[in-house]
Formats: sequence, structure tokens, C-alpha cells
Amino acid sequence: MSATQALENQTVRSVGRVIAGRTFPEGDGMVVHRAFPREQEFDPFLLLDEMGPLDIAAGEDRGFPDHPHRGFETVTYVLEGNMEHLDSRGHQGNIGPGDVQWMTAGAGLVHSEMPAAEIRKKGGRLHGFQLWVNLPRRDKMMSPRYQEIPAASIPTAQSADGRVKVKVIAGEALGAHAAIETRTPIIYQHWELEPGAGIEQPVPQDYRAFAYVFEGQGTFGTSATAAKNEQMVVFASDGQSVKFANSAGSKSTLKLLLLAGVPLDEPIAHYGPFVMNTEQELHQAFADYRSGKLGTITRSAG
Ligand code: MN
Repeated sequence: MSATQALENQTVRSVGRVIAGRTFPEGDGMVVHRAFPREQEFDPFLLLDEMGPLDIAAGEDRGFPDHPHRGFETVTYVLEGNMEHLDSRGHQGNIGPGDVQWMTAGAGLVHSEMPAAEIRKKGGRLHGFQLWVNLPRRDKMMSPRYQEIPAASIPTAQSADGRVKVKVIAGEALGAHAAIETRTPIIYQHWELEPGAGIEQPVPQDYRAFAYVFEGQGTFGTSATAAKNEQMVVFASDGQSVKFANSAGSKSTLKLLLLAGVPLDEPIAHYGPFVMNTEQELHQAFADYRSGKLGTITRSAG
């Protein structure tokens, strides 16, 4: 039995390929599962890292200490634990379970992303995602801005039978519209499907579309291609919707991130924390960082 309801006048996309995530050390003693590195194929996205799940022991000093960014956006979505955020413009905050921080680095800033003081002191588990969204040329030097949406304010929806649930970080699904505003058209959604449940979700044909599985396993696209935990499904651009399902015999909930966006189709000059259009702009970013134009983080005593 399939619970998937077909959408009228929509052609379902096939699956181009399935990519296994790789494990990398990052920052200071952190571990990430990287679904993809920067690659033109994923335009307008540059990177997706699943942080952990990572158990941090009491007193361990791990995290992503002071580093700059320019020319793109970092989107932090925490599932478990708390991250502390501090930047060179005096902004600070705590990102907890279900919270989203959509940071538009634009012209640039220096920030620090660390497990919350409580976790560093007493130990704890950290699990979440960081997505890098490229900015179009016209926005690369915009003023930095934050959109911080607490878990309770992330729009959610579910299927009529309650077996398919979605949290809408960007875009819209099952009638729920995102609270976050994006610079170019983006879909970023956390989907959960119980065993036997399926869904067909519209994704306009000019969007590139991907699904990253972070729990369980499922089938994707017209040929029901299988993918599991820590794998990225790349949909082909041959339809106006994507389809995925959790098999009836499955023992676990299928959890995934659906990512889609209209490619920028602009040159990418990327080095470390800077993503610009030309080499000259990259050199300028480094020069501006070295001369202190992106600022430094001031920490109050104690
Ligand atoms: Mn960062």
C-alpha cells in the first residue's frame, strides 16, 4: 500500500545519483558528516555538514572558534544540544533544539560557534546541521543580517493521516509557509515519514533538488531508488515534484532534509570562509580580513 497521493499535472523527478556522506574533522575537535563539498552541481548550495551527533565530555574544549565569512549565508539548524554564537558586530545568541539561525554574512563578519557553556562544562550531546547558501553577485557585499527563528516559530504541517510531518524552514509544504526570507528561491524542509508513508512535494523544475537522509531509510523518485542515513539523493531536473516514501516494513521513521534552489549560474571563487565571484574579490576579502575590516570579537570579562 502506498500512502502517496499523486499531484495533478506534475511530473515526478527521477533520481540522478545517491552520494554517501564522508566524515571530516572540522574546527577545533569537531566531527562532521559532509554530504557534499562546494560543487557547481549543488548550486546555489555550497556545503551541507551534519554536526555529530557528537558526545562532548565535561571540560572538553571543542567548537568553531573565531573565523570570518564573506559572500554567502550560513544556516545553522540544531536538533540536539545548544550552540553559542558570538560575532564581531556585538551579536550573540544561543541556538537550541529545533532553532534555526539564518546568517547572511554578506560583506563579512567574524564569528564564533561553540557548544554552549553548559555543555563545555558538564558535557553533552550535539547534533545539527550547517548549510552554506551562496549569495548572488548583487548581494555578496550586503550588510550582514540574522534571521533567528526559535523552534516554536518554525511553521509545521502534517498529512491528513498524521503520518507525514514537515518543518518548513524555507519554502512551503502542505500549506505551511516559511517565516524566513531568502535572497533567492530556496526550499529547506525537515520531513519525517512513518513506516508505510509517502509524499509527493512540488519543487519547480528550475530548482535543483536534493534530499539528505539523517535517520532511517527510504525510496526516492520515479524508480523508488533506495537511500539511507548519511546519504544525499540528487534529483534530476526532469519534473515539477519530488517523491519519497518510507517502506511499510521499515522499523524506523524516515527523517530527511529536502533542499532545493534556483541555481545562480555565476562564477564561484571560493577559498576557506570566503565565497566570491572572482579571484580579485577573494584577495580583497583576505586583505579586508587581515586589516581588521571584518572586525574582531570583543568578549566581556568573566
Ligand atoms: Mn561560521
